[in-house]
Amino acid sequence: MSKFSIAIHGGAGTLVKGMMTKEKETSYRKALQKALQIGYKVLEQEGTAIDAVNQAVISLEDSPLFNAGKGSVFTADGTHEMDAAIMDGKNLNAGAVSLITGIKNPINLAKDVMEKSDHVFLAGEGALRFAKEMNYSLEEKTYFFDELRHQQWLDIRDTDSFQLDHSVKKDSKFGTVGAVACDTKGNVAAATSTGGMTNKRYGRVGDSPMIGSGNYANNKTCAVSCTGSGEYFIRGVVAYDVSCLMEYKGMSISEAATEVIQKRILEIGGDGGLIAVDAYGNIAMPFNTEGMYRAFKTSTKNEGIMIYKT
Ligand code: ASP
Repeated sequence: MSKFSIAIHGGAGTLVKGMMTKEKETSYRKALQKALQIGYKVLEQEGTAIDAVNQAVISLEDSPLFNAGKGSVFTADGTHEMDAAIMDGKNLNAGAVSLITGIKNPINLAKDVMEKSDHVFLAGEGALRFAKEMNYSLEEKTYFFDELRHQQWLDIRDTDSFQLDHSVKKDSKFGTVGAVACDTKGNVAAATSTGGMTNKRYGRVGDSPMIGSGNYANNKTCAVSCTGSGEYFIRGVVAYDVSCLMEYKGMSISEAATEVIQKRILEIGGDGGLIAVDAYGNIAMPFNTEGMYRAFKTSTKNEGIMIYKT
């Protein structure tokens, strides 16, 4: 049995210290701890990396604290349009959905696209038709209602601007969630889920559901889940770039992840972070923002839950 490990994130960004109360911080830590434990348990029982990341992300989607599933931000039309992707590093199988509404756990739908359809990426109406065929039920709009997110949207709904989770002035936090894992067999997997950006329009899609940009997994190199300014992460093909630096340049996971987040994405104007794991269970979690909600646990008894730089 080789070393196994899992890392999760609940978004990167500028977490303005004054806005973070002790109670809030405790709830974030608890939510991260819960998702981490759920994912780790799957690995401990010799489950697959895919199941571990799927279960961890479901737990984060069910929390109203993060911008995914239940806590998704409002679009310009006052709705919720969610994106998610999942990838198996063992065989490069992948599934993604975008612009979906009413689905409690978008990551499950992405997994079903991967396992039960002939396709990789389904969007909008079509993705919902597929969900119907798979017998998903739709949640009422009230399930996704959150007072804070609603206020964030009301603040900017009559403007042309769109924002990442919390307003730039108050607290520019990206609340996307993600998980990466390496199982006992050395297989890696990545999962990412998001509500995107507050007040987004025109069917805007970020990096999160795009294989190679916000999410990628390959046993030869690593599994990656990103959070940050999606438009830049798409242009930088960030998740795949980390994998390429490992494969073509022979970098370690930590070197490759750091190079992409602390140099390459900054050079093109993007900010955010990522979590990554390689097939030996080594983890990297770089970010170039003030903080990133993150947690990790390895079978070698290494564990941590962090928000700010340490
Ligand atoms: N990357 C996400 C997006 O652009 C936002 C986030 O990370 O919170 O949709």
